Formats: sequence, C-alpha cells, structure tokens
Amino acid sequence: MLAIVKPGPAPGLELREVATPVIGINDVLIRVRKTGICGTDLHIESWDPWAAKTIHPPLVVGHEFVGEIVDVGSNVSDFRPGDIVSGEGHVVCGRCRHCMAGNRHLCAHTVGLGVGRDGAFAEYVALPMTNVWHHWPGVDEDVAAIFDPFGNAVHTALAFPVLGEDVLVSGAGPIGLMATAIVRHAGARYVVVSEPNPVRRAIATRMGATAVVDPRERALADVQRDLGMTEGWDVALEMSGNATALRNAIASMAHGGRIAILGIPTAEISLDVNEIVFKMLTLRGIYGREMYETWYKMTVMLQSGLDITPAITHRFGFRDFPAAFAAARSGDSGKVILDWTR
Ligand code: NAD
Ligand code: ZN
Repeated sequence: MLAIVKPGPAPGLELREVATPVIGINDVLIRVRKTGICGTDLHIESWDPWAAKTIHPPLVVGHEFVGEIVDVGSNVSDFRPGDIVSGEGHVVCGRCRHCMAGNRHLCAHTVGLGVGRDGAFAEYVALPMTNVWHHWPGVDEDVAAIFDPFGNAVHTALAFPVLGEDVLVSGAGPIGLMATAIVRHAGARYVVVSEPNPVRRAIATRMGATAVVDPRERALADVQRDLGMTEGWDVALEMSGNATALRNAIASMAHGGRIAILGIPTAEISLDVNEIVFKMLTLRGIYGREMYETWYKMTVMLQSGLDITPAITHRFGFRDFPAAFAAARSGDSGKVILDWTR
C-alpha cells in the first residue's frame, strides 16, 4: 500500500510503498478515505527536538482519519466490512487502575497512532476494535476525518459547565476554532477569542465568536468593558500553548473561574500563583479525549446542529501532501484534509 512515512531521523516525509498492516483477532482493518493534518504531524515532519526524542523511524505518520472497514479479526462481532468509522488514536493498556475503572483517557501507558505505532496516512490502517468509533450513515466525511481534534476541542470546551457563562478562548488554531462553536452550541453567553493571526480571527467570527481580539493590540480588560462584563471570565480555554496567553487569561478571570488547559507549551511557564490562590481559580490539564463520552458528545452535538465545517479550510489529494503540509504550517489555515480516495 502507499503511505506517508518518516523514513529516518531527519526532516521530511516520503510517500512510499509499505506492507499493508496484518490484523490480530481483536483488530479491524480500515481502508482510509480522508485524513486530517495535526500539529503533531508537522513536528514529526520537521524533526524538532520533541520528534527526535519520541519517534522511532521508519514510521507511517498520521492519526486523524475516517475510513471504511474492510476486514475484522475473529473476535470482532460488532464491526463489519463497509462500516464508516474513525479511530481513537490513543491505544491504551486496558489493564491499569484507570483503564480498569473505565477512565481510559487517564491511562499512563498510552501508545499514539502515528507516533508510537504505524498511523493513518496510508491506504490502510489497523486498530484494536476498542479504538474504533462508528459513524452514522451519511456523515460528512470531512468532519468525520477530524473527530480526533474535534474531540480535543469537545473535551476541553465541556471540561467545565459553560451554560450562561462568559468564555475566553485563547488561540484560534483548528482546535480553538472548533471549541468556539462548541461553547456557543453549549449555551455560553459571551465567547471571546484571542488570536494574533487575522485569518484565524476571521474564521473565529464565522464559528460564532461574540468578539475577537488581537492580544498584541488590545487588553482583554478592554473587551470585557465593551461587553459590559463586570467580573471577568467564568471559563477560559487555553488553546495556544503560549505563556503570555495563559498569564493574560489568569489575570482576567472572575473569582472562582476555571481554566481548561489543552495547549502544549514548548518551555516552562512561570505563573503568579497569588492570583490563582486569591481568585480561587481551578486550572485543569486536558489530554486527548474521554473514551468514549467525548466521542458520544461529538456525535450528538453534530446531530443536534453544531457546525464545525468553517474550521476546515483546505483539501488536497494525498499525493499533494507537501502542499497540504505547507498550508497547515503557514498558520493561515484551519483544518487541512488529505483525500485518499483520489
Ligand atoms: P495551533 O498551533 O494551530 O494554534 C495555536 C494558536 O495560538 C495559533 O493560531 C497562534 O497564532 C495562537 N497564539 C499564539 N500566541 C497567542 C497568544 N499570545 N494569545 C492567543 N493566541 C495565541 O494549534 P491547534 O492544532 O489548534 O492546537 C492547539 C494547542 O493544543 C496546541 O498547543 C497543541 O499543541 C495543543 N494540543 C494539545 C492536545 C492535548 O491532548 N492536550 C492535543 C492536540 C493539540
Ligand atoms: Zn491503562
């Protein structure tokens, strides 16, 4: 089969022939139809320090996908050839305390699809049946392809109640953009998106932001004043990985405010803990998706009218992956989709 491969410990990726995965008795084999490019894939392509210490080439990259089941192992009963599915990219151990308790997102032995095992930027991908999510007939395949980052957005956006609350979204990358639409759908009052990139701010407005702000030009306190807010954000979603963004969020929270942190900083961040203490803030780290409550919520919110399609800005055939990676890296983009059917 054809796959996009990290061939060795150096920058770059290659489209090449590799062996089609062989499935075990508990696995399913999926013919990939569409995939999404994630920041992780960009790290692996550029071979940055994280990639150099994490990735063992050769590796088929990619973890955001939708596809059609073509074969199932002998233990698999509830998936059939022809089913349209996506995959949870975190393959957990199934045996630790948290896995046994049903809190699989807390597993400390997670192996990542396209990170620790061969991934989905290929004509076929294999996964354990416990990692496979059924879509409903007629699902928009571009949306289905990005259930993984959509799940990051849902997991973060619903970490705290947002009904009737004022929410700050820091960072309007693909995940911040989707989170904007989700908190709107979930009943927030004001949703303010802070993002330096004007292209992304414009998309955030289409996703339902009440206001967008360039954090280099305007203080969050200004925006709050314009909106007539008196107390500060009830909930903040940190989706930038940027130190200043996190500090600005903490400084503009209401007492008792809650911050869900998804963004991954590249270095340590020092914080004014006094502000966290005296405002009695809650800071919570978010990793991946809850298996499978997040997946359930994604499905039912789409079925009840949530629209995340404005976050998808680029589509390419898989052979044009260098152009697709360039579009994703440019920053002037939302989600970039690779089509494996053409
Ligand atoms: P992205 O890099 O495309 O988006 C981050 C955005 O933050 C960019 O648009 C950038 O312009 C903006 N930004 C930079 N400085 C800012 C500032 N001072 N204030 C506000 N915004 C600022 O990333 P993404 O794919 O949307 O992912 C969002 C974050 O979540 C990234 O840090 C990513 O590494 C992380 N992530 C975490 C998980 C997890 O499981 N915890 C999973 C996926 C991604
Ligand atoms: Zn486990």
